[in-house]
Amino acid sequence: MKYCELCNNETLEEATFCKICGFNSKANTFENPDRLRLYYKSLCSKDHYHWSKRLYLIERIMELLRYEQCDVVKLLSISKSNVSQCLTLLSHLKENHELEDFESMTSAFNAAKGTLKPVDYEKDLQKYIYREWENTVFAEEWYIYNKNHLFGKFKAGEAGEIDLLAHHRRKNKWLIIELKREKSSDRTVGQTLRYMGWVKDNLAEQDDEVNGIIISRTYDKNIELSLKCIPSIKLYIYNRLDHNLLQFIPPEEAEIFEAKQLLSRLSSEQIESLKKRFSR
Ligand SMILES: [Zn+2]
Repeated sequence: MKYCELCNNETLEEATFCKICGFNSKANTFENPDRLRLYYKSLCSKDHYHWSKRLYLIERIMELLRYEQCDVVKLLSISKSNVSQCLTLLSHLKENHELEDFESMTSAFNAAKGTLKPVDYEKDLQKYIYREWENTVFAEEWYIYNKNHLFGKFKAGEAGEIDLLAHHRRKNKWLIIELKREKSSDRTVGQTLRYMGWVKDNLAEQDDEVNGIIISRTYDKNIELSLKCIPSIKLYIYNRLDHNLLQFIPPEEAEIFEAKQLLSRLSSEQIESLKKRFSR
C-alpha cells in the first residue's frame, strides 16, 4: 500500500492512478477528472469529512499540477469565488489552527475575517459565550479566568478541558461552565463535577467556593433531577433572540420566558379571547 500524492488516501502499489481521486502520479495528470469532481463533492458533504480537507485538496492540486486558481475552477467545475474563499481560509488556518474547531466552513471564514455573527456560534456555543461574555448575564459577577487561550477553554490537566472557567469579580469563588451538547445528561453532570473537583484541588484556596453552571439548548428534566442534591451547580437554558443574540435563562424563569414569547406572537384579539376563556 502507498498513499496517493494528491488526496493522501491509500492506494494500490501497482495501480497507475488513484482509485479515489483519479490522480496519475507518474504522468502527473488526471485519468478521469470526473472522478476527482466526485471526490471533491463527497468532501463537501460535511457529515463525513472535516471541511479543511477540501482546502488541502485544492492546495495539493495547485502544487502538484502547478495550477492557477482559474485552472482549479475549470478542473473542479466550482465557482471562482469558491476557490478563492478556500485559499483565503487556508492561509488563515495555517496561522491559526483553532479555526479548525469551527464546525462549519462559513463560521470559520467569518471568524477569520473578524465578522463573525453571533448566529454563527449556535453550533459553537462555547466560542459565542467567550466572545460575548460581557453581554451575558454571567458577566456582572464573573470574569473569564484564563484569557490566554483564543476561545477561553481551560486545560484542566488529566481531568480534561473545561468549556469555560470563570472567577468571581469580588469574592473567592470559581465557576465552571459546561455546555451540554450531544453528551448525555449524566455525562454532562459527571464532567462538571470532575472539573469542579479539579479546580478545588489545583486552583482554589482552602476556603474558596467552587460552583458550576450547565448550559443546555432545551430544558432538561434529567439534569434538573440530578442537580436537586447538588445546589452548587445550576442549569441554564439558552434562547435565541430576534437580533441574533443568545440569552441565558435559569430554569425557574424559562417557563415564564417561553409564555411571554408565545404571547408576543399573538394578536390582541387572540389575547382577549384567551383572557375571556380563563376568566370563566
Ligand atoms: Zn488520490
